[in-house]
Amino acid sequence: PPALDPVALRADFPILSEQVNGHRLVYLDSGATSQKPQQVLDAERHFLIHANSAVHRGAHTLAAEATDLFEDARATVAGFVGAEPEQLVWTSGATMGLNLVAYAIGNATIGRGAPASTPLALKPGDEIVTTAIEHHANLIPWQELAARTGAVLRHIPAHDDGTLDMDAAAQLITPRTRIVAFTHVSNVLGIVNPVAELVALAQQVGALTVLDACQSAPHLPLDLPALGVDLAVFSGHKMLGPYGVGGLYGRAEVLDALPPFLTGGSMITTVTLDHAEYLPAPQKFEAGTQPVGPAIGLAAATRYIDAVGRDAIHAHERALAERLGDALREIDGIRLLGDAPDAERVGLWSFDVAGVHAHDAGQFLDARGIAVRVGHHCAAPLHQRFGVTASVRASAALYNTMDDIDALVAAVAEIRPYFGADA
Ligand code: PMP
Repeated sequence: PPALDPVALRADFPILSEQVNGHRLVYLDSGATSQKPQQVLDAERHFLIHANSAVHRGAHTLAAEATDLFEDARATVAGFVGAEPEQLVWTSGATMGLNLVAYAIGNATIGRGAPASTPLALKPGDEIVTTAIEHHANLIPWQELAARTGAVLRHIPAHDDGTLDMDAAAQLITPRTRIVAFTHVSNVLGIVNPVAELVALAQQVGALTVLDACQSAPHLPLDLPALGVDLAVFSGHKMLGPYGVGGLYGRAEVLDALPPFLTGGSMITTVTLDHAEYLPAPQKFEAGTQPVGPAIGLAAATRYIDAVGRDAIHAHERALAERLGDALREIDGIRLLGDAPDAERVGLWSFDVAGVHAHDAGQFLDARGIAVRVGHHCAAPLHQRFGVTASVRASAALYNTMDDIDALVAAVAEIRPYFGADA
């Protein structure tokens, strides 16, 4: 792909010209939330100024315009992940998408909103398989579902280098497995997991696959139907889009079989005092007023990403990651988490600074205008696996430059001397 010019792209992101603590902002926290280009801000603002109105109801002109913009946004965002518009459910983000799925399967289990014979229903002793490297959002909803249904939760372990233990996965995924839920890219390790292999293992036993695509959607070409997953989630705010909007993708048969989670207005065909009939997907899952402006903003974000080109973005971010990884390995007392030599990865590294708490390291970097994330990044079990309670995470996006990486590296090299940590 033609090389991406991050310096030119930065002009589209107003916040990147801010000064922080007297320094040029070096924003390396896009794994937590990305910055938003002017095109996204303009799309949402244009809607609010010129077409704001309730969608799918009302006979007036603005309502029709708003509905068209909202449904165009659905088609755009669905297309971004290779899907048809009916396969994309709006959510408030990945956390809601995963909870929607888990609670809906719980409803299927008690026979609510789906035929009691639905293959999605769980029974005691059925197994749900996740991995030991999940974000809490792809862990706790399954713990809750297991507790409510009597299902058993199992975890695919990770090797010391951060890659998943696929031999263990092959042992753990058995005819008892009903759900296999895993992340495409770890938000702590930055490693791209072998989706096709996990899907193949799940399909052999007829288990449902649920993909957390939060950390891949902004960075990699993503064709969810081609990956073969049954369901997948992503968050708008991590992919140059607004807060409060995200997507749940589902294969048509799966969305048909899945009962609703939230119920109420806009998701029904008929209602009596005692009973309701539901619209087909995606409306079945979209009770209540939807985040129309944010959805339109997210569509603008996916157009922006596609205009830059996802292959170019991936190549650029991989080059940033390589430079950062190579430099950090040379600094005394820095340990990279998930340093698998041949792993496919995005532009994200987490690391431990020997003898310095991650929060102190984060403050040291912040004083130099460098924004990173510190803590367990909502993946406490992963940190336990690697023998630390917290880490420093630097995560890049298409607007980061080699200068950003070099600024981080120079500052990281000063951390341990500054705090007097022994070499
Ligand atoms: N999964 C992963 C891998 C994530 O990185 C995040 C956000 N840190 C989430 C899920 C949750 O996303 P949100 O907070 O936008 O719902």
